[in-house]
Amino acid sequence: MTRHIPHGIPDRIRHYIDGAWADSLGGETFDVLDPVTNEVYVQASAGQQADVDRAVAAAKRAFDEGPWPRLLPRQRSRVLHRIADLVEASDRRLAELETFDTGLPITQSLGQAQRAAENFRFFADLIVAQHDDAFKVPGRQMNYVNRKPKGVAGLITPWNTPFMLESWKLAPALATGNTVVLKPAEFTPLSASLWADIFREAGLPDGVFNLVNGLGEEAGDALVKHPDVPLISFTGESSTGSLIFANAAPFLKGLSMELGGKSPAVVFADADLEAALDATLFGVFSLNGERCTAGSRILVERSIYDEFVARYAARAEKIVVGDPADPATEVGALVHPEHYAKVMSYVEIGKAEARLVAGGGRPDGFGESGNWVAPTVFADVSPDARIFQEEIFGPVVAITPFDDDAEALRLANHTKYGLAAYIWTNDLKRAHTFAQNVEAGMVWLNSNNVRDLRTPFGGVKASGLGHEGGYRSIDFYTDQQAVHITLDEAHSPRFGRG
Ligand code: NAD
Repeated sequence: MTRHIPHGIPDRIRHYIDGAWADSLGGETFDVLDPVTNEVYVQASAGQQADVDRAVAAAKRAFDEGPWPRLLPRQRSRVLHRIADLVEASDRRLAELETFDTGLPITQSLGQAQRAAENFRFFADLIVAQHDDAFKVPGRQMNYVNRKPKGVAGLITPWNTPFMLESWKLAPALATGNTVVLKPAEFTPLSASLWADIFREAGLPDGVFNLVNGLGEEAGDALVKHPDVPLISFTGESSTGSLIFANAAPFLKGLSMELGGKSPAVVFADADLEAALDATLFGVFSLNGERCTAGSRILVERSIYDEFVARYAARAEKIVVGDPADPATEVGALVHPEHYAKVMSYVEIGKAEARLVAGGGRPDGFGESGNWVAPTVFADVSPDARIFQEEIFGPVVAITPFDDDAEALRLANHTKYGLAAYIWTNDLKRAHTFAQNVEAGMVWLNSNNVRDLRTPFGGVKASGLGHEGGYRSIDFYTDQQAVHITLDEAHSPRFGRG
């Protein structure tokens, strides 16, 4: 496939510390690959302990001495709105670069860039609307809440929709007056560097935003274990989350964990079948299937099971796999050869465990290079199969029949994960009863994956710890200090007066 290399790729992807680009002090780098050819297209600086120390020191100085935490909320809000304006104005360029780095279809990258701008606009507005409880007993006492930024926030992000997921942490962390050190995923470091120019142009003071690229076990680990970083917001795999939890424990850090998923989409016989087909196809095959909330287990009521499977498989076969930069493409190239190998290994496992009804490997005509996987559908998947239980994070879906509501619920909950659930039925009572009983942090009823930014985002079980979104993000990134004053005189029991 001939590659159009977008404008704006730097000669090296560097750290950004205290308002300046920086290489690793020891000169370490790592390779960044183009997912369409798997050729190295750029080197990125690989941050080590010393680089993280520099970045944290800059962020701490900006927090302790700089203007950012001391600005009025409306002053910070203005900067955040300017950031949103700049992201919106360059959304096409951002999307092109993101698509080049991640292999995501360009139309979907564009949507993600626009969502990143919305995240900044949302928290810019929320921070000026923020108010806290104050309680008064007239003439006697008064209590109020003092909300304070926590300090240097460590932000560790994954490679799926990297720019948007970074905005999801950066916007509330900055809105509340913290300073940050961002450690983006090593597979996709390109778009994170774009923040530096955007922030500088928007007027964010030096040292407030710092970026350290590098591997998880080096730069990420150093950030987690840094004593001057009181909170870590992490998005990534459940196993990494659990390691970070253990590593942060000695410091009693604030932690927010958005982790993996294996979310069920439950289709009852009374559902609007067309709508359920559209949404369940989009739900697992959009974003190349590299989506934490993918509805990757579809449970279908037996009376419509055969028809559903046949129609689903036929539509999956028609999904357009191709050049991520082509607006007609629906599924692009998976992010990295390591991830491709993992997804392909699950395709082989699935062939041994279940009935393959669509896809099943590399699509025809794609040659040797690049990480291409045909949208793959397995039917008759047993609930104990690995492809039912384990997160594949690619364009692969497992379909399983059920006989009644109780079995549907049992199957839906039969995994260690609990991120999202999608329910398709026209029976209102059944929908809400299911929502109450399903073990999932987020439930969509007869709905595609849409979310108002005010609602909480997060999972239960192995899918996460804590929620972000709306006021939950404000809570996570601030300390709430309760202040109490007694106004009358005879307020304390008298001790020690004999
Ligand atoms: P990952 O856990 O491998 O890596 C995520 C980040 O953690 C990367 O920046 C990585 O460098 C860093 N990291 C790795 N080891 C570390 C360590 N020991 N200490 C500190 N940092 C470390 O995840 P990934 O493969 O990049 O992303 C895919 C995963 O993310 C999937 O499981 C997906 O479901 C999950 N995800 C969850 C959500 C959500 O909101 N729940 C959203 C997107 C992705």
